[in-house]
Amino acid sequence: MLIPPRFAASHADHRARYMHEMDSRRMGADADLFALQKNGSEFPVDIMLSPMILHGTHFVLCVVRDITERKAAQDERERQTAELRRLHAELELLANHDGLTGLYNWRAFYEHAGQMLRTAHRRHETATLLMLDLDHFKRVNDRFGHAEGDRVLQAVAATLKATARENDIVARHGGEEFVVAALGLDEAESLVVAERLRAAVETIENMKTRITISIGIATLAPQPEKRETPRLLAELLDHADQALYAAKKHGRNRVFHFSHIAGHAAEPQANTTIASS
Ligand code: GH3
Ligand code: MG
Ligand code: MG
Repeated sequence: MLIPPRFAASHADHRARYMHEMDSRRMGADADLFALQKNGSEFPVDIMLSPMILHGTHFVLCVVRDITERKAAQDERERQTAELRRLHAELELLANHDGLTGLYNWRAFYEHAGQMLRTAHRRHETATLLMLDLDHFKRVNDRFGHAEGDRVLQAVAATLKATARENDIVARHGGEEFVVAALGLDEAESLVVAERLRAAVETIENMKTRITISIGIATLAPQPEKRETPRLLAELLDHADQALYAAKKHGRNRVFHFSHIAGHAAEPQANTTIASS
């Protein structure tokens, strides 16, 4: 009476086999077992079988227990665990990414760039840091409003991400400044990469005005000795920032490498525009 029709055939088999080789067993712990109510609906059960011999006759004591509530509580626990996992992933995403552009935020950049510097040291490779700043961005906000400014930042972020190599770290440094870190580029290659990013931003379409960026580059040569990562990173950032400042000073929408200004305090540099292939 308790067996739902969909299990009737298999249950008859089980039963026959059990009568052959009777033992005490608990069922329903790992399998989902269901029993039938008078009204035809099913409910989850666990089943305990205990064979016994009374006056020479075999009997099986069968206890069927309704576990609807236990199962509901278990399902609820599983649902809550899944929800916690989802929230945790969401929090992690929020903690590492910038809300407006979806790029890494400063905190995540610092962590990943630090790892990149350690990798560079281990492999005796260079590490390159690009500091990018939108030109006259204040004017965009002033002329077209903050919402258009935000739209521009999103478009620039997407362009940088799409143009950079997959292993490059692209992040929003804050405000209208971005940073890119790359492994294994020599100075000439870093200029080509930066120039490609500059040109990609310049050709963004569907904005209310043409957008340009200035870029400062700093290269860290392979270090003979292991040096403290935060220090190296601070130095690189400072150098890239100085190069960026020089790019701004020399007319914006251009790329400067720190090595070109080091020693001769932001002297005018020949046209740095390099044809990108
Ligand atoms: P420069 O070429 O010298 O960099 O000039 P600039 O106008 O870009 O530089 P400045 O630092 O004077 O202005 C940066 C502006 O960026 C000021 C601020 O209103 C704007 N800004 C910073 N963060 C955001 C943002 O999240 N959204 C928008 N819409 N504007 C932002
Ligand atoms: Mg700025
Ligand atoms: Mg700016």
